[in-house]
Amino acid sequence: MTQFDPSRTESLSRMTAFLPKASKTYAGGRNYDNGPGLHTKSVSVLSPYIRHRLITEEDVLTAVLGRHTLSSAEKYVQEVFWRTYWKGWLQLRPSVWEMYRAGLKARLDDVATQGGLRRDWEAACKGETGIDAFDHWARELVDTGYLHNHARMWFASIWIFTLRLPWELGADFFMRHLLDGDPASNTLSWRWVGGLQTKGKTYLARPENIAKYTEGRFNPKGLAGFAAPLDGPDHPPRTAPPEPAIWDTKRPSALLLTSEDLSPSFLFDQGLSPLTTATWHDAEHVSPLAPAPHLGAFKQGTLDDVTSRWGDRLGPVTACADASEIAAWAAQTNAGQIVSPFAPTGPTATMFAELKPLLAAQNQELVTPLRRYDALCWPHATHGFFKFKEKIPKLIGQLKGLQVA
Ligand SMILES: Cc1cc2nc3c(=O)[nH]c(=O)nc-3n(C[C@H](O)[C@H](O)[C@H](O)COP(=O)(O)OP(=O)(O)OC[C@H]3O[C@@H](n4cnc5c(N)ncnc54)[C@H](O)[C@@H]3O)c2cc1C
Repeated sequence: MTQFDPSRTESLSRMTAFLPKASKTYAGGRNYDNGPGLHTKSVSVLSPYIRHRLITEEDVLTAVLGRHTLSSAEKYVQEVFWRTYWKGWLQLRPSVWEMYRAGLKARLDDVATQGGLRRDWEAACKGETGIDAFDHWARELVDTGYLHNHARMWFASIWIFTLRLPWELGADFFMRHLLDGDPASNTLSWRWVGGLQTKGKTYLARPENIAKYTEGRFNPKGLAGFAAPLDGPDHPPRTAPPEPAIWDTKRPSALLLTSEDLSPSFLFDQGLSPLTTATWHDAEHVSPLAPAPHLGAFKQGTLDDVTSRWGDRLGPVTACADASEIAAWAAQTNAGQIVSPFAPTGPTATMFAELKPLLAAQNQELVTPLRRYDALCWPHATHGFFKFKEKIPKLIGQLKGLQVA
């Protein structure tokens, strides 16, 4: 297992090591999958940290734009904003997540009742399909919790168009194993490969492209030569973006830390001084099936890191397993409000929906402040990335502390 030390210190040292590569090396090399242990040659491998906001998008952009001009680091900056765009897009259309979860449940029922599907799905997850490149990536994912972006695209394409497996099962395989597994980036990227996201546009994995960008490590035979878009409903109507929470930082408060945002300093900067803190991570909720052991361990490690880093600000810390445990913990505090960073669409937001009425019944309120970064960026995720991308220079200008040269 490649070591992803779940700490902010590790994320900062990875960031520092990557900084010199964020312009030319990244622009020229980012499509090359160099193989396990060699990815940092051309990509940052920061996603497990950014996903949990051990290091935030703003931290990364500030560091990159402190060293490079926007035009020279444009590619890297755009990739960081891809995450933001996907999160915003799903936040404006949360029913796409519900549709994915309902579809996944139906496909898992099929796996339970259809022997052929079960056999093919198991072979794909174990890396026993006979397609060497695909089998290698399946094992790399299970062993390390990470895959290069290009490998994710090839893998998803082969899963859908060559192996003809349901896309939801592939997205779920990723969510159970990726340390950076993210409801928005993962669901919407799988939908994009299958032709559900950009209507009618699919991604076909081609052997010559794989050979080129793996520098000849793989040249798979027998891949589908054509990728017909999957059938699916039109995009649902957009909902309104979340409003920044208006809250009284002086009111007695308790803090709830979740996997969505492990940089609580933005709350302390607003004046939050919690009496006590609870932690909750979502590993058991990313899939109806059991998550890979490394996922639970990584998420727990990130929580241990944040509670030890901020130990002098958090009060006593309690680990909670579910909404009722959190409500029981909250009932023991003298806090009128439980403050937690806003949770975008996904398992944490689902847990919050369960928690709110439990807290209300004991006269407590769940307050979920939205970061300024998300409040500024998400409302622009209305159409495709091309349109969103045009806003990047302006967004960077609006973000405090980010200077564009
Ligand atoms: C089918 C599929 C599933 C994916 N599932 C996830 C997922 O569950 N979680 C996840 O974080 N990313 C996902 N991605 C996006 C992308 O592959 C990873 O974010 C990227 O590979 C992370 O590696 P890195 O940090 O070395 O990226 P770098 O190339 O160094 O990029 C820097 C940062 O930009 C962001 N980023 C880069 N590419 C993308 C992208 N295409 N979409 C969104 N953000 C991006 C990430 O935060 C990343 O850490 C998926 C892509 C595909 C095609």
